[in-house]
Amino acid sequence: MSERVSVTEVRNALRCPRLFALGRSLGRSVAFPVGSSCLGASFHRVVERFAQTVSAPPARFAQLPSGAARDEVQAQLCDWLLELLMDELEQDPTYASMPGEVDDLAEALRELGRHLSARLDPFTGPPAQALSALMHSGEQAIEARLNGTGPIVSGRLDALYADERGRIDVIEYKLTDEANDEVDRAQAALYREILRAVRGVDARPVVLRFSPLLREVSMRPEHADEFLRTRVLPLVERMPDWASEPALAPETPRQDLCAACPVARECKESYPTRLPARDDPPVGAARPRPGPSAGLCPPEPLPEPEPSEEDAVGRREAEALSARILKELERQGTSAVCPHPPVVGPTLYLIQVARPRGAVRHLDSAAEDVRHRLASQDGVEVEYEKRGGHRRFIVRRLQPRPVRLGPLLLRRREYLTERPGRFIVGQCPDGEVLCGDLSDASTPHLLVAGQSGSGKSVLLQSLIASLVQYHPPGAIRFTLVDPKRVTFNGAAFRGAVSAHLDGPVRSEVEYVLPVLEQLIQLMEERYRLFERAQVSDIGEYNEQVSPPERLERRVLVIDEFQDLITDRASTQAFFESIRRLGAKARAAGIHLILATQRPDRNVVPPIIRANLGGKIALQVASATNSRIILDEGGAEKLLGKGDLLASLGRGVVRAQGPLLG
Ligand code: SF4
Repeated sequence: MSERVSVTEVRNALRCPRLFALGRSLGRSVAFPVGSSCLGASFHRVVERFAQTVSAPPARFAQLPSGAARDEVQAQLCDWLLELLMDELEQDPTYASMPGEVDDLAEALRELGRHLSARLDPFTGPPAQALSALMHSGEQAIEARLNGTGPIVSGRLDALYADERGRIDVIEYKLTDEANDEVDRAQAALYREILRAVRGVDARPVVLRFSPLLREVSMRPEHADEFLRTRVLPLVERMPDWASEPALAPETPRQDLCAACPVARECKESYPTRLPARDDPPVGAARPRPGPSAGLCPPEPLPEPEPSEEDAVGRREAEALSARILKELERQGTSAVCPHPPVVGPTLYLIQVARPRGAVRHLDSAAEDVRHRLASQDGVEVEYEKRGGHRRFIVRRLQPRPVRLGPLLLRRREYLTERPGRFIVGQCPDGEVLCGDLSDASTPHLLVAGQSGSGKSVLLQSLIASLVQYHPPGAIRFTLVDPKRVTFNGAAFRGAVSAHLDGPVRSEVEYVLPVLEQLIQLMEERYRLFERAQVSDIGEYNEQVSPPERLERRVLVIDEFQDLITDRASTQAFFESIRRLGAKARAAGIHLILATQRPDRNVVPPIIRANLGGKIALQVASATNSRIILDEGGAEKLLGKGDLLASLGRGVVRAQGPLLG
């Protein structure tokens, strides 16, 4: 029997006892990814260095006199923390590849500076002296056996702060989001208990959560003790048994966690009786998974449409370009062939090239010259792409062929009809129809971003039109918010979707927060309904009940959602609602589609990115914008007018968004 457990393991066991037991039997530490920030460790390092230098502060801070204005104290603290951050950044060049995350880290440190300056206010004496008293200690390892028979619980607390009267707070810094609230509070409460057991200190547990704005959660000691007694310690006592006999570990009551579980595969092998997870696709709605070009619909036996005259023109053009590219490569002494006929897409030609023999790197070095010569001599813009061992030129089509929604709907009718929530994104260059599914665990909510002229409005219209095409209003309903009053105004669009609307299209942003609150209530009601019916999600529920009782999917679409991010209070309320819906609305059949033309780090912070699984980027202004949406560059090079990159859970795929009609 294991007699020692770490606080991290207690956190895991609180989420799922099997997660803890599997971590033990696999002999590796298990990190649960939900709501976590990749820069949490960096934040802790910077703050720990700060705690270590409190006794020898920078001269400008050390010289602040007693009674210095709070703004001045705050400014000096922020400078100090940011200097430590600069040291941290200089030591690791990989930070350069994540500018958005580094900005958030800097903002979190500024928030800490503000928080500390406020805590210093009640102290007398110079700020440097007060800070030494406040920062009672930084990180430290502590452990204790918390009752006579339980295991020893060990961990590293983040900091102890003392107030002006010497009362101690045990501090946990968190860059995780509030999906982790319960385990974070449990952790702080455990450290309070360990401190009391080994040092007789009566500390108040406090969680400082930076997202990157700071939210302080302090627990009243009696509440922390009650929480520990009823929820945490009974679990801790059972953990040694689960460690020695993993089969005894019960599964999590939070089955929505399984979709992101780091040991899901091992769990399935070790516990074959596992119930279907709340976020797994419902069994009755199972469908073949997409193949290697994931995100694409499974092929259907419908005949491809006859090539139009426009496509015949495109094919001739593409073949001429292939020959031109090969000739240019030859001219530079690099013999090459096209192993396949060029792909003639609606807006692009894809021309694959290969070396009959010899190293492919010769192609890479010659490709740049080919691009320049085609641009200067022929006025043709060409991109060159490396994908594993494959190389291809991507050429913008001089006369793009319009992609229309109607034919795509017909081609994918069977797939779309199977269940509500499926939609069409566009057509890929190779002719495949790119589809998505809101009931898929990886894409229950969508983020759509693109600058003015990128085709965002048309794409939103066609997404919604494809969602309603084969399903009655009783199966799916929409609430549309359009602050600029241009996106959902077209007569064709209104005609196609009006029966499915919850009410008139709204333009007032004040309307959004109450709607989000109503959706959260609806989600909780549906979860209670599912519990009573002993089902795990809307798909299963609808299979059990008669048609009039079936629940409809609800979709809230907000165009230009950046208009909601104006002041601190509404921003926090908005992000909090998104977090709550993002975490578990899918199983309840509630979905969000948020669109913006300003995908910068303020509008699309990590909490938005983490909670909206499906991402569609149209043309954006910069590679930074592209990375904010897709975690990779590329959208800045798109052609506009519906040319898009979509990440629907299984890689980024390029497509052309369709026009309505
Ligand atoms: S898959 Fe689910 S039940 Fe299994 S260990 Fe992970 S969270 Fe627990």
